[in-house]
Amino acid sequence: MGRYGRRVILVLAALLASLSSSMCAWQAAQPADAPAQLPQQKLIALTFDDGPRRSTTTRLLDGLAERGVKATFFLIGRQIADNEDVVERMDREGHQIGIHTFDHVQLTALNQTDFDAQVGTTRALLEDLLGHNGFLLRPPFGKWDEGVKNHAGCPIILWSIDPEDWDDKDTDRVVKEVVSQARDGSIILLHDIYPESVDAALQIVDCLHAQGYYFCTIDQLFAARGRSLGQGEVYSNAYP
Ligand SMILES: [Zn+2]
Repeated sequence: MGRYGRRVILVLAALLASLSSSMCAWQAAQPADAPAQLPQQKLIALTFDDGPRRSTTTRLLDGLAERGVKATFFLIGRQIADNEDVVERMDREGHQIGIHTFDHVQLTALNQTDFDAQVGTTRALLEDLLGHNGFLLRPPFGKWDEGVKNHAGCPIILWSIDPEDWDDKDTDRVVKEVVSQARDGSIILLHDIYPESVDAALQIVDCLHAQGYYFCTIDQLFAARGRSLGQGEVYSNAYP
């Protein structure tokens, strides 16, 4: 191959490199409400339990906003008081909101009255605050039974990737575990009440953006795959 041939290859390689890096930037900057773009990309949902907690949740919302990422938050009812503005911000910024009971209790084996004291009360609080309904349910500890399905009144959302971030609060381990398990349609479970989990979440976003993933809410994830969510049905992923 002559000098000219080598130069052509070098120019082509440089062009390809610049194209691929600009594609990553484009993916990261895409707004979440661009449904036409969703099905062509690998999709993944970040979900956060046990909040809101003003300090950590606010920093997470800032980081997600910088990256144009929408997530889903399963809130504890008793923590909404004094954090109303944080919950309103989640809603305003396009994140999806769900119920994680009022007192973080296991929902299995509860009668309708006790179930409503946990789930119905939290649903009413959120409806009052946000002026709309349609909240998903994530049962604490991922525990459900026929009673939970019958009483839920909405879809029940579990997860497919759980790095147990609450255990050692080791940011590097959590990032590695989630990134290595990530696949199209995954639902990631983290907790926005720990600073280390906020750090991990933002690093996970940056790593998976570089791999071409698009982060979306639970509703967006299932809608993009043409799957409708049913009341009282249990979901842990949206694998194609
Ligand atoms: Zn929880």
